[in-house]
Amino acid sequence: MKNNLHISAPRGSDILRPSSKIVDQHDRTFDYLRLAVNEKCNLRCIYCMPEEGIGLLKEDLYLSQLEIKRILYLFSQMGISKIRFTGGEPLLRKDIPELISYAKNQCEIDKIYLTTNGILLNKYIKELESAGLAGINISLDSLIPERFKKITRRNKLDQVLNNIELVQDSNISSLKINVVFMRGFNDDELLNFVQMTKTNKLTVRFIELMPFDAHQIWKTGKFYKSEDIVRDLKNQVKGLQPVTGSNTEHYIFQVDGYLGKVAVIPSYSRNLCTNCNRVRVTADGSLKNCLYSKEEKSLRDEIRKGASDQELKDLVCNSFFAKHKDGWEAQRVEGNLRKSMTQIGG
Ligand code: SAM
Ligand code: SF4
Repeated sequence: MKNNLHISAPRGSDILRPSSKIVDQHDRTFDYLRLAVNEKCNLRCIYCMPEEGIGLLKEDLYLSQLEIKRILYLFSQMGISKIRFTGGEPLLRKDIPELISYAKNQCEIDKIYLTTNGILLNKYIKELESAGLAGINISLDSLIPERFKKITRRNKLDQVLNNIELVQDSNISSLKINVVFMRGFNDDELLNFVQMTKTNKLTVRFIELMPFDAHQIWKTGKFYKSEDIVRDLKNQVKGLQPVTGSNTEHYIFQVDGYLGKVAVIPSYSRNLCTNCNRVRVTADGSLKNCLYSKEEKSLRDEIRKGASDQELKDLVCNSFFAKHKDGWEAQRVEGNLRKSMTQIGG
């Protein structure tokens, strides 16, 4: 039975309306929520955050735990069947296991995932297991200690590698390694990352750099296009076979005899827009109908003004109905992109 503790009583017209699925004018249905739970981070990845960090908002401008729960429950009523907790670094929140349990038990959502830099996993792995987490994506851009330090501005590679092993030994079934792949930066590690899939049942995902970084590194010739990554994989890796993967994994392969898979994610090239199923909510409670959208709606402000569940659902449905055909169109709208991916959650 779903608990509706956090849902206000239906008013007037609410009672007559069927619970609303999130669809748009281009016939897409949205059933995957990516929820950023903070903007803080214990790393300073050069393509994401400046050395001094991003200027944080006043604490009360971020969603409270109760507001997050209300949003989770509301979306579970709107057909969301998969949730990813992200950030900032989500494991800097002590209540992450509690939020996962809430989504699983009160909202009856089974597919719950976490994207993390992996540093604090040893502290939380048992609780994450018992909360029912289905999978973890760990961001790891280099297997060379000096380079890891240069990219993240912290000396923590060993900790991340040890924590990857902990996840492998846990009952959390899906493990993916996110590698933001950049020319002249870490592209010489292609074969080493592919090698990780030989004896480990995990997916290594090479991700295109996106233009959400204070330093605009993507303008400096480091951008490595997904099609070029795929071409280089095909040229350099023997026995690479196309296989099936998740919605986002536009290009997905397995090397003959290897346990894991290798994927390439065209997050900048935007080949995935026609199949988009993602809803994003930022840590300060803004609803984004596209990663590249500059038009956001504040769920936080509406909740704090006392909006009913139906009013919140209408806001979500209207925002998504008007979603642009693709991320290129969304980006052309006047306005500023968010300064850092830590505000959006990836
Ligand atoms: N701190 C967690 C982590 O690093 O996994 C979660 C938040 S992080 C913003 C989510 C993902 O976005 C990470 O995989 C990170 O590598 C990726 N990311 C951050 N900035 C990016 C950029 N400019 N281009 C592409 N991916 C980026
Ligand atoms: Fe932190 Fe993740 Fe951004 Fe790196 S990518 S600075 S780990 S939020």
